[in-house]
Amino acid sequence: MAHIAYVNGRYRPLHSAAVAPEDRGYQFADGVYEVIKVLGGRPRDLERHLDRLARSLAALDIAPPMTRRALESVLHETLRRNQLANALVYLQVTRGTAPRNHLFPKRARPSLVITVRRPAFPSEREREQGVGVITQPDLRWGRCDIKSISLLPNVLARQSAAAAGCREAWLVDREGIVTEGSASNAYIVDAAGRLITHPLNQRILGGVTRSVVLQLARQDGIEVVEQAFSVDQAYAAREAALSSTSSWLLPVTSIDGRPVSNGMPGHVVRRLMALYAAHLGVA
Ligand code: PMP
Repeated sequence: MAHIAYVNGRYRPLHSAAVAPEDRGYQFADGVYEVIKVLGGRPRDLERHLDRLARSLAALDIAPPMTRRALESVLHETLRRNQLANALVYLQVTRGTAPRNHLFPKRARPSLVITVRRPAFPSEREREQGVGVITQPDLRWGRCDIKSISLLPNVLARQSAAAAGCREAWLVDREGIVTEGSASNAYIVDAAGRLITHPLNQRILGGVTRSVVLQLARQDGIEVVEQAFSVDQAYAAREAALSSTSSWLLPVTSIDGRPVSNGMPGHVVRRLMALYAAHLGVA
């Protein structure tokens, strides 16, 4: 069955759907997006995703394309038409279409595109044995808290990771701090069993999965430290992990080719993976 995309008011087969060449998303990456996980036909953590979408739009002074309720019903209708119980929804809003000019157009209407695809969630092997990451310089702009569609540095870092046979690239700033992954948040567990992850600020995207994982950790009595950690701390960590909507929570068992601890997932990350699966009702 052809996948159906929602594009500015119309439902179209994905392969024939199109946006205008002067869409500002295409010309300036002037837009934001969300990726939402759907399990058993239900979008998960939708409130958190729509809250973040609203924050990203407000930060760029892009008007919401429609009310939140309307957006939810379009999302559900797109899902219904695609008939996928498990899916990843990609939702993109740009400032709209206007003659090319850096200045915000006076009258453009925001563009909304929603696509749905079959998810490629992590394999059992990746969940049980963990994944490798490499470190790469963090070359991104100063507002990584906005979920902007401007992802070229992320794309390049991720490509380097793939070339090195790794799942993800951990981005390292000029001070040697691991900010986050190219498309995920980054965590370590120290010798005291504390879960450490970069604090929420303009250097990282506040992941929806991150917010859920930290909440679950605290509820379970795991000490959470929202503090920057260095590459050296990561090399010396007892455990490491990454999280995102599509990757869930995954153990990181090697960094730049060096095994994390004994190279196998540790008990704090395994416990959090189980709690996250239970949160999604798939435990
Ligand atoms: N950081 C970056 C840079 C990302 O692209 C993503 C995934 N979109 C994340 C973190 C994780 O966010 P989430 O858990 O909301 O998918």
